[in-house]
Formats: sequence, C-alpha cells, structure tokens
Amino acid sequence: MSDQYDVIVIGAGPAGYAAAIRCAQLGFATACIDKSLGKDGAPVLGGTCLNWGCIPSKALLDASHKYVEAKGHLGDIGIEVDGVSIDVPKMIARKDEVVKGLTGGITALFKGNGVTNLPGTGQLLTGLQVAYQDHQGTTSTLTAQHVILAAGSVPMAIPAAPLAEDLIVDSEGALEFQTVPQRLGVIGAGVIGLELGSVWRRLGSEVVILEALEDFLPMADRRIARDALKTLKGQGLDIRLGAMVTAAEVADGEVRVRFEDGTGEQALTFDKLIVAVGRRPCTDDLLASDSGVGVDGRGFIEVDEHCATGVPGVYAVGDCVRGPMLAHKGAEEGVMVAERLAGFKPAVNYGTVPNVIYTHPEIAWVGKTEEELADEGIAVKTGSFPFAASGRALAANDAAGLVKVVADAESDRLLGIHVLGPQASEIIAEGVIAMEFDASAEDLGLTMFAHPTLSEALHEAALGVGGRAIHMVNRKAGRS
Ligand code: FAD
Ligand code: AMP
Repeated sequence: MSDQYDVIVIGAGPAGYAAAIRCAQLGFATACIDKSLGKDGAPVLGGTCLNWGCIPSKALLDASHKYVEAKGHLGDIGIEVDGVSIDVPKMIARKDEVVKGLTGGITALFKGNGVTNLPGTGQLLTGLQVAYQDHQGTTSTLTAQHVILAAGSVPMAIPAAPLAEDLIVDSEGALEFQTVPQRLGVIGAGVIGLELGSVWRRLGSEVVILEALEDFLPMADRRIARDALKTLKGQGLDIRLGAMVTAAEVADGEVRVRFEDGTGEQALTFDKLIVAVGRRPCTDDLLASDSGVGVDGRGFIEVDEHCATGVPGVYAVGDCVRGPMLAHKGAEEGVMVAERLAGFKPAVNYGTVPNVIYTHPEIAWVGKTEEELADEGIAVKTGSFPFAASGRALAANDAAGLVKVVADAESDRLLGIHVLGPQASEIIAEGVIAMEFDASAEDLGLTMFAHPTLSEALHEAALGVGGRAIHMVNRKAGRS
C-alpha cells in the first residue's frame, strides 16, 4: 500500500464512490477509505444508499407492492389469484442479494477504474494528511494533494425513544424484520417513515405513524400533500399529525409509547417501533481538532457552492454537507469536485434536484412550490392534470394523483413540477431536464409525447399553464 495519493476520498457511499471513480478516470492516483461492514462482517462499499437506504428500501417497497397487487387488485382487472401468501425471510434474503450484487459492483468498478480500496477508518489531519486505521487495527498516515470528505449521515436518535434490541429500531433495523409485526409504530412522517411504514402496512401490519408537525410533508406542494395524505390513509396508514412522542419503553416484550397531541397525553402499545426522525451528518470522529475544516452547529461540514471547505485542497460532498440528503445530489457533488480538480468547471444546479417519496402512488417534485414562490413574492401561473384522465393510467388501473406545473407568470419559465401518481419518480426526470434547460411551460407544451404514456399528464399540465390542455374542458382558453 502506498502512503501517497493524488486524491484520498473518505467514505464510499454514492458521493464518495462517484468522486473516487471519476478522479481515477481522470488520471488521479486515488484511494477511497470506507469503514462499513456488511451483515457478514466483511467490508462493503456503497455506504448507506446501497446497504441500508435507497436500494434495500426499494427492494422491499417493490416486493410488498407486488404482494398488494396480487392480493387485492389483480381481481379488478380479471386475474383471479388464489392463496397468495408471503415468505418474509425470503423477501429479506432477496433484498440482501440485490444489495450484495450492487455493492460487489462498486468493488468491481473500483478495481476496473484503478481506485485503491482501503477498508477501515479515515480521519483528516492537518496538512492534507489522513490517519488510516484498517479493520485489523493497523494505523498509518497517508498524504494527498486533495482530500474529499464523503462521510455521509447516520439515523438521528431522540432521547424519548432509545433503540432497544429489535423492538425499537431505526431505519436499518426496519429493513430486517423477519416476521410482520402486528402492531407497528413509526415516529416521523418524513420520507423514510412513510416508505418503511408503507412496506410493513402492505405486508399486513397495523401501522400508526406519529408526526410532531401539524402539516403533512411541509416541503411538498399543498395540494399534492393533501391528496397524498388522503390516499395513504385510505391504504390503512394511521397517520397522526401534531403527535409529539415524549417517551417509548420496552415492557413485557412490547413497546409502550407516550405522545402528546391536541387533546393531551396519549399512549399506544406496539409490537415494534421504528424511529424515523431524520438523519445527521456523520462527522464526529472524521476531523482531527487541528484539521482546520469548519463544522456548523448541527455537524455539517461548511463548504462553498463548489464543495470546497475553508482548507485549500479539502472538499466535502454528500449528506455531510448542506442541501438535501439524497444519493443523487451527493453523487453529482462528488463528480463535480473530481472534474474541478482536473481543471474543468462544472457546477451542481441545486435548483433542479429531484425529490421522490416511493410510496404508492409515488410523490415527486423538482423546483419550488407555489407556496414558496408566493412567499418570495413571485407571481406564478399553474396547470394541472389528473391521472384519472390519463388513458395509460386508467388502462393500468393505477389512476390516482395528478401533475402540477408551476411557471413564472410573466416569463412562462418553469419554476416547479409536482407529481403524485404512478411512476412519478420517472416522470419527474422529464421535468428536471426541462428545468435544467430553462424551458418554459410552452416549450414543454410544444414537445411531442408518446401516446399513451403516463408522461402525457405532464404534457397536459404544461399545456394547462397557458389554458391549452386538450383533455380538459376549457371553453375560453388559448387564443393568445
Ligand atoms: P453515505 O451513503 O452515508 O456513505 C458514507 C460512507 O462513509 C459510509 O459507508 C460510512 O461508513 C463511511 N464513513 C463515514 N465516516 C467514515 C470515516 N471516518 N472513515 C471511513 N469511512 C467513513 N436517497 C435517495 O436519493 N433516494 C432514496 O430512495 C433514498 N432512500 C433512502 C432510504 C433509507 C431507508 C435511508 C436511510 C436513506 C435513503 N436515502 C435515499 C438517502 C441516501 O441513502 C443518502 O442520501 C446517501 O446514501 C448519502 O450518500 P453519501 O455518500 O453522502 O453518504
Ligand atoms: P425526515 O427528516 O424527513 O426524515 O422526517 C422526520 C420527521 O420526524 C419530521 O417530520 C419530524 O417532525 C418528526 N419527528 C421528530 N421528532 C419527533 C417526535 N418526538 N415525535 C413525533 N415526530 C417527530
């Protein structure tokens, strides 16, 4: 093992591994240090996203959705299925296989691209040095011309609900249940709480989600949030807003939870409780006291718009810096830093980061909401289109939700696109592309979409901004 590199990356989640691979592709001698160990105790690459986040949660969301379809909805379209049952350990084992395949893929990409894989812990010292300790406890000091910090994030804990064996768990534990808990509590109706609550509700749990805020998904468009809440409640998710959990304890093999809502103190008992109250940056032991890198009060590494810290040569990307905690945001930052080190000048457009919640229907958006824009004093015009009027959605028996397009009232420039509906995660990509190219609603309206597709709802919503939607009744519109 060399002790000198052009670039050392600490953390091999989507931000770190993307940075490391791109650095190596650009000709830098690159090493990537990651401390994660998989279920079998062996080092794994891919970070939270591949091991305990995006991928395993989507494997269980997709599997549980297929179960619900087979059990409940195939009959609606003339397919009778008898004796549908689930094998939870098999579902979890298959999820593990998907994870294994993908994390192994990163190992192969490191090898193929010439990234030196250093399993163990890294800490940034002063003077572009990194203290490296491998899993056997051997320590060494490495030096680099550039260091990229990509230490990611970990689940937030709250004193009111300390984790307990496999009864009070965080998002990682919630991906490992071997049986379906009959009564499942979830603290937090954020993205992770809704996704994990949906998985276990679909598999048969009675799920109560306790959320301290009065508003549901405050970051989403109000109409979309309202419709999503109604639909998710209709699926049996008992979402209680304005319910602040004050205590949770294990007694007699059950979890007793106390919370306060508008009517006073309440108590509920569950078989399992998932704590999904957010994530915090994983920067506790990442920086030596004299590293010189600034950290804010919440533990985020301070960086400029190009992810440079205050120390020349040191960068930070992904969940450990400001901005949404999303895999694709971190990966784009990692690639941006690699390319800037090679002399190119890319930038991340933080105004076009797509957000997706993988419930069913999915919720996705890019840009700003009508409410945010109103607060900023920006006049807008909007168009929306329901999937109930989409031929493809109706043909697929999957027609809940809508697309809403928000454009500047004067310039017609797209400012936000909001989707609740089937495959919203895919449809939103079209909105991201349009906004990345600074398109107007009219540009989207003049674009030809294949028929019949779910994306036509985006087309019609964009046409609707100018009063030109075809599959809507609008007698006065469109002579301008
Ligand atoms: P991480 O993926 O957290 O990786 C950081 C790595 O650095 C880890 O392996 C860690 O062990 C390692 N590390 C930390 N400190 C050190 C050190 N000192 N030395 C060596 N190694 C170190 N995002 C999405 O975009 N889409 C989704 O669908 C989605 N679903 C999610 C579902 C769940 C249940 C969870 C928990 C998260 C989900 N996320 C999703 C968020 C996503 O996982 C994160 O935004 C993403 O993983 C952040 O990438 P990162 O590279 O910054 O950090
Ligand atoms: P997110 O950060 O999107 O994952 O969402 C986490 C959610 O958990 C937020 O909406 C918080 O309001 C909520 N939350 C945090 N602490 C509590 C608590 N003690 N009781 C209920 N909800 C909480």
